[in-house]
Amino acid sequence: MHYVTLIKGDGIGPSIMDEAVKVIDAAGAKIQWEEAHAGLGAYEKFGTPLPDETMASFDKTRVAFKGPLTTIVGGSGFRSINVALRQKYELYANVRPAKSWAGVKTRYDDVDIVIVRENTEGLYAGLEHFLTPKKDIAESLAVVTRTGSERIIDYAFKYARENNRKKVTVCHKANILKYTQGLFLDVAREIAARYPDIQFDEKIIDAACMHMVMNPKQFDVVVCTNMFGDILSDLTAGLVGGLGLIPGANIGSDAALFEAVHGSAPDIAGKNLANPTAVIMAGAMMLNHFGETEAAQRVVRAVEKVVNDGTHVTPDLNSNSGAGTKEMGDAIVSALE
Ligand code: NAD
Repeated sequence: MHYVTLIKGDGIGPSIMDEAVKVIDAAGAKIQWEEAHAGLGAYEKFGTPLPDETMASFDKTRVAFKGPLTTIVGGSGFRSINVALRQKYELYANVRPAKSWAGVKTRYDDVDIVIVRENTEGLYAGLEHFLTPKKDIAESLAVVTRTGSERIIDYAFKYARENNRKKVTVCHKANILKYTQGLFLDVAREIAARYPDIQFDEKIIDAACMHMVMNPKQFDVVVCTNMFGDILSDLTAGLVGGLGLIPGANIGSDAALFEAVHGSAPDIAGKNLANPTAVIMAGAMMLNHFGETEAAQRVVRAVEKVVNDGTHVTPDLNSNSGAGTKEMGDAIVSALE
């Protein structure tokens, strides 16, 4: 039996997480779900966006399956709970695979990129403040450490080797941010030398965006600091059909959290419109993490069948299907072999 802290989250979270749990349970893996709360809903209900009970559950299970959480934009809200969880449990590697789907028509049909994003440092380290009482000058500090850079870059190369990938590209801005990005790039060059079987490439982040849009095939595994990875992974989502399709794993040395790349999508919440694919695929990543590879493959095959068939899919994939979140979840359960 595997124990998992289940956080359904805000906005579209509960509806897509219900479908994901249904699919994972039907795939035959033995998961004991322990429901816990976080995010805006938890804040409104319990007065804190991250109740102690949620932390106690994650402390125990060390594996969480999480729906998206709403973070209020700007200075008036609480700090991102996603960032807080990643930092507290040192979930240093954020792995976000984006692969073309045969049934989803986009500009390219051969995209296969895995973004490996440093998840605990960089500009998202949480070191932000105003410099004046009038609050008219603000400062954010980016923190890049040798240790943090080594572990994420080594993770990217190991990931490439273990998953039969050929190339790792580091995307950076070391021409301008000479110390923080320079350190990250130096470490990438050092670690690349230890993996002669994996091709190494380096690209400045702005040019990398242009290359990725014009010729995504040249990218395989991409490693970068926190904010660049956050942005690049939405770009890769756009290349393969949108945010509803991209899962993410947040991996630490003794804890892991699985979620979609997308957010709580308040614009479509409560309307049975959200695509559950991303969280279901995140569930498959969690099954692989547990070593439940057969159940994981069963889930992936069923999702591929439904998405590529395009009949019982949400409107972001087929506006004429008439299906919603729940119908798509049901179709995926029926497609399990
Ligand atoms: P978003 O990802 O929620 O939505 C962006 C666009 O993509 C919207 O038009 C939305 O309708 C669409 N979309 C997203 N997921 C979809 C799905 N499953 N199916 C179909 N369409 C989908 O980004 P946002 O609007 O910038 O952010 C909303 C909130 O989510 C913010 O509070 C933000 O902080 C939060 N957020 C949370 C996470 C997380 O919990 N990991 C990640 C990103 C954003």
